[in-house]
Amino acid sequence: MRTLTILGSTGSIGCSTLDVVARHPQRFRVEALTARGRWQVLLEQVRRHRPRLAVLTEPAAASALRAALAAEGITTEVLAGEEGLGIAASLAGVDTVMAAIVGSAGLTPTLAAARAGKRILLANKEALVMSGRLLLEAVAASGAELLPIDSEHNAIFQCLPPGRPGVPARGVRRVWLTASGGPFLRVPAERLASVTPDEACAHPRWRMGRKISVDSATLMNKGLELIEAYLLFGLPHGAIEVVVHPESIVHSLVEYTDGSTLAQLGNPDMRTPIAHALAWPERIESGVESLDLVRQGALRFEAPDRTKFRCLALAEQAALAGGTAPAALNAANEVAVAAFLGGRLNFTAIATVIERVLERLAPADVAGLDEVLEADRHARALADGFVATAPGGPR
Ligand code: NAD
Ligand code: MG
Repeated sequence: MRTLTILGSTGSIGCSTLDVVARHPQRFRVEALTARGRWQVLLEQVRRHRPRLAVLTEPAAASALRAALAAEGITTEVLAGEEGLGIAASLAGVDTVMAAIVGSAGLTPTLAAARAGKRILLANKEALVMSGRLLLEAVAASGAELLPIDSEHNAIFQCLPPGRPGVPARGVRRVWLTASGGPFLRVPAERLASVTPDEACAHPRWRMGRKISVDSATLMNKGLELIEAYLLFGLPHGAIEVVVHPESIVHSLVEYTDGSTLAQLGNPDMRTPIAHALAWPERIESGVESLDLVRQGALRFEAPDRTKFRCLALAEQAALAGGTAPAALNAANEVAVAAFLGGRLNFTAIATVIERVLERLAPADVAGLDEVLEADRHARALADGFVATAPGGPR
């Protein structure tokens, strides 16, 4: 029996995780669930899975959940605030932590899970992009495990021989990271300045939270994933290529020195990588339909357009610069995406804001978490300023 904490249980990945877990009551037991504010959704999940602990970071939401559970006689303990996330992530008696909070808010609890020696199922790519080697070192020091949930990284993991996170596999020539291209792949570049948040979140292939949906539309998601992949698989710079694959059936590929290229394929449904990592090294039913290759027909591949999607080029620069550059890139992106979703910035200005932040903030070496948090804080302050003044910025 595996025992689970799900950080971010009310989100897209959190709900897909609970869907897989519910198919295997003999195999998994949910011990802790966490979310930010949507207490009614969490209440429903607590009724169904009866964890020992539920955490809501918003205090008013936590009080509402506590009252509702008491009225039903459900004994799940409810904690409020960010400390609760760390407690859920390192809870004794839990062996597996799904890290599915979106953005930098997931960093501290994911590090707590690493230090506590858990098996971490990593969806929260921002935590790894920010902390870089620090998370990998915490995993190695405690004997924790790190299994990628991002579909591309899970695909690469499946195409590689067994190994440790961050340690390169032998005989790999390069890795092909596939990208759907997002909802604006065929939209003319001149139209991009006027696209709306709802258009940006209407992803043709995946149903996801709004932040990652915008990242997919700008191709920043692929940029963050590139940084994630360099770290997870210990690859030398230049060994990862991004290739646009609009059907999202081939989730990524690994090319070996002998000319063999291995790929992982499947319908675009996150329950496949989630089930893979939950049961690893075994295989379990996920609820995902079989792939019908004949009905699918053609699979297309093309080069990404870095002029139209500048965020990809900016992320590649940050990957090359190293040090605190990825943390600064991530922070500037979080600020710019929130401004776009809030109607305060146009779509093309997301890249402009990030570019200006990276120009101003020279990358520093990372000795510990302090440098990462300082780069995050500084980049956010700069980005806030640029959002207010970005050319063609506020709509
Ligand atoms: P989502 O917005 O649907 O859900 C986010 C979850 O995090 C919610 O439970 C929310 O309550 C919680 N949360 C948000 N802000 C928080 C905060 N400040 N403090 C505490 N909790 C907070 O997002 P998602 O689409 O499920 O994505 C989650 C993570 O997984 C992201 O890092 C994303 O990049 C990654 N990911 C998602 C998908 C996907 O298909 N959705 C695919 C690959 C990777
Ligand atoms: Mg992905």
